[in-house]
Amino acid sequence: MIPSDHPRYRSLVVRARLARCAREGVVALEGLTAHGRAEAFDYLIGERSTETARRAARTAAALIRRAESPVLSVNGNTAALAALECAAFQRATGCAVEVNLFHRTPERMAKITALLERHGVAVLDGEAERLLPLAHDRALCLPHGIGRADLVLVPLEDGDRCGALRAAGKTVITIDLNPLSRTARTATLTIVDELTRAFSLITEAYDSLEDGEADELVRGLDNHYLLQAAIGEIVRGLERALD
Ligand code: ATP
Repeated sequence: MIPSDHPRYRSLVVRARLARCAREGVVALEGLTAHGRAEAFDYLIGERSTETARRAARTAAALIRRAESPVLSVNGNTAALAALECAAFQRATGCAVEVNLFHRTPERMAKITALLERHGVAVLDGEAERLLPLAHDRALCLPHGIGRADLVLVPLEDGDRCGALRAAGKTVITIDLNPLSRTARTATLTIVDELTRAFSLITEAYDSLEDGEADELVRGLDNHYLLQAAIGEIVRGLERALD
C-alpha cells in the first residue's frame, strides 16, 4: 500500500503498475530499465511539460491532421502506462492503433491487445509481415496498418526502427524523454515529454488547432531546433539547482 501523502506518490504508483504488468507478461523486464532511464530525464526537465514539449505536441497534432492514414504503434510500456490516454487520443484523432513489440510472442500480443481493448482502444488485427529491413521482430507490420501508413506515432521507440520507418518514406513522430536518444534524433518530430502528459497535449491540441496555426507549425517544423531547445531547458534547470 503506497501512502497517498508520499512525496513521490505518483512515481511509486506508476512503478507498482509497471511491476504488476511485468509479472503479468505485458511489460518486458527490459521495459522496466527503459522506464528508469526515462524517470531520470523527467527529473531533469522538472516533471512537467516544457514550452518546447507543448509546441512539439501541437505540431504533432497538426501533422496527424494532415496525414491520410496515420497509425499509433503501441508497445508493452505504452499499453501499461497509457491505455486510457491511447483511447482518448484515438477517439479524438481517428488514428488506427497497431501493437508492435521487440519481445514479440503470440501471448504478449494477445495480452497487450486485450489490455488496450479493455480501456476502449480499437486495435488492428490481421497477419503481420516482415515489411521493414530489421533483423528483429519489430520488422513485423500489418500491410493495412503501419505498412501503408504515411505517418506513424511511435512512443518509446528504438532508433533502428525509427530509422527504418523514415527510410520507408513515413513521417515519424516519437515521444521520448531522452533528447539525446537515436530515436529522438532520427524522428521527423520528437516530443520530449513523459508519455501520458504528451498524449494529453496532442489530444487537446488536435481539437483546438486552427487551420492557420496548423499550417504555420508544419511549415516551421525543425526537429533539431526543438531538441536543442529541450536540452537547453535541462541545462537551465541544472544551473538553477547549482544556485
Ligand atoms: P535509442 O535506440 O533511440 O537510442 P534505446 O533503444 O536505448 O534508444 P529504449 O530502451 O528502446 O531506447 O527506450 C525507449 C526510450 O523511451 C528511452 O529513450 C526512454 O527515455 C524513453 N521512455 C521510456 N519510458 C518513457 C516514458 N514513460 N515517457 C517518455 N519517454 C519514455
